[in-house]
Amino acid sequence: MPAPLRRGPQRWTNYHGTGSAQLADLVELANSPADAGRDVLRDVAQDVLALLQGAKAARIQVRPLGSGWSPSPICLVEGGWLVETRRLNRCFRLAPDDVAADHDASRLMLVQAGATVDEVNDSAHELGLSLTTCGASNGQTLAGAAATGTHGSVLTAGGIQDHIRALQVVTPSGIFWVEPLERVMRPEFVAATGSIILRDNDVFAACLVSIGVMGFVTAMVIECEPVYMVRNIQKRARLGRHHITQLAAGDFRGFSRELALDEDPYFAQVILNPFAPFAKDALLRFLYRRAYDATIPPPPRALVGAGYDALTLIAKAMAGLDLFRADVLQLAMRAGYAVQRDIDDPEAVATWGNTTEPHNPIANLFNGSVTLERADLERAFDPLIKAFVSGGGGTVITLRFMKRAAGLLAPARFADNVVIDFDGPRSDVSHRSYRAVVTRLDALGIRFTRHWGKTNDLDAARVSKDYGIHYTRFRAAQRRIMPDPGDLAVFGSDCLTHLGLI
Ligand SMILES: Cc1cc2nc3c(=O)[nH]c(=O)nc-3n(C[C@H](O)[C@H](O)[C@H](O)COP(=O)(O)OP(=O)(O)OC[C@H]3O[C@@H](n4cnc5c(N)ncnc54)[C@H](O)[C@@H]3O)c2cc1C
Repeated sequence: MPAPLRRGPQRWTNYHGTGSAQLADLVELANSPADAGRDVLRDVAQDVLALLQGAKAARIQVRPLGSGWSPSPICLVEGGWLVETRRLNRCFRLAPDDVAADHDASRLMLVQAGATVDEVNDSAHELGLSLTTCGASNGQTLAGAAATGTHGSVLTAGGIQDHIRALQVVTPSGIFWVEPLERVMRPEFVAATGSIILRDNDVFAACLVSIGVMGFVTAMVIECEPVYMVRNIQKRARLGRHHITQLAAGDFRGFSRELALDEDPYFAQVILNPFAPFAKDALLRFLYRRAYDATIPPPPRALVGAGYDALTLIAKAMAGLDLFRADVLQLAMRAGYAVQRDIDDPEAVATWGNTTEPHNPIANLFNGSVTLERADLERAFDPLIKAFVSGGGGTVITLRFMKRAAGLLAPARFADNVVIDFDGPRSDVSHRSYRAVVTRLDALGIRFTRHWGKTNDLDAARVSKDYGIHYTRFRAAQRRIMPDPGDLAVFGSDCLTHLGLI
């Protein structure tokens, strides 16, 4: 198997240009050409083990890198080694002999850490499977997306990490197969991957949203569902205050009945203009589940894609503008949903994989979010909008909804969550407005969390307060997988120390 490529010292900038670091080395992991998944996992994990042991001996910090999409500095490691995983992108089917008796191998897939969501969607489709949920875009790696709790707006699901059933994790002291106490894979399979079994509910739950401080994830077993399709309705519409009440109460059926189909939506998302949330059109997106039909060709992306990247790009036009913000933002929103598909238009039906958008770098974007208990949307909405606009309000506001997600440090920690995203140009105005929202929510005594991968202004005290006992259990789980403090130190960085995660 080819050795990892050492690209040497250099300045590295993340994918969207929001942060950079001077690296001692940029390392590109190579993949194994072996046929069997278990052999591939063993070969790669041994490379990663050697790398981590070398780093520990030389007291160098190592940061595993997915697609580098996180705008927050969690991928940066000043003076350390950044280790790229993008070549580790193979997905494998599993056989009934590989899995424990009570698991259905036909729904499981073995996925290497660096496979992008797009690649996972394609492989799942080939196996007659679909992911249940994911984020709006598809360029993140599966391990990187899970590490920050990436989510979409599927009303009955949590985050992307909820698909994970087991992980292969490498530390400087060994190669571990992490599962919950209830076993997932047969011991013979695990042994063939060169891993030692570590069955521990909290270690598993910590690894699901690991923020890159639970070791180096090299592969995962994920559970999907039989392939399905969704019908997309995306349109501009004027909302009233009562719609916010409806959403806060979880009456998605009623919301959908008024604005789209009289049917339970699978996914519902609202993009609002904060300057005029009810006086100007909002952008709505509903997805409704449909049975898989192989004769339906994939429609053009604009008809089923997430309408996210375009919006963010165009919202850049707003940076530095003080006048007519509401109108400019509305223009950007119109461009973002240039193509509408209402209930009377010809149906746009596609697989889950076709509902996500391809990856393009977006220079200088701002994205931040807050996740609160869905019911709190009712009393938070008006003050939150007021606070945001008082800061200058440079971005659109998106409301997304999800169930509690798996993982001790999953931001979606309430039984029912509303995630409020602020996406737009990277400017002082956007950041100031986001800070005003955070301050206002605190003043109102409303509990909320923030996305690990987005701009979040978090620090150690706040992380510990937000996650409470789950933070304590996370730190204890870290010590169980890495009892030697020297091992944990390898995964350090300024940002992660600041967050109290190292
Ligand atoms: C355009 C855009 C759209 C987005 N859309 C959404 C969305 O719809 N929903 C949402 O929730 N978020 C969204 N995000 C945020 C994004 O999903 C997260 O930041 C995600 O973590 C990025 O994945 P990545 O593969 O680039 O990981 P990276 O940014 O490379 O890494 C994230 C963290 O994971 C760690 N890590 C990566 N790989 C490994 C590994 N193999 N082992 C251990 N640790 C690892 C890294 O060290 C780092 O700490 C979006 C971001 C952008 C820029």
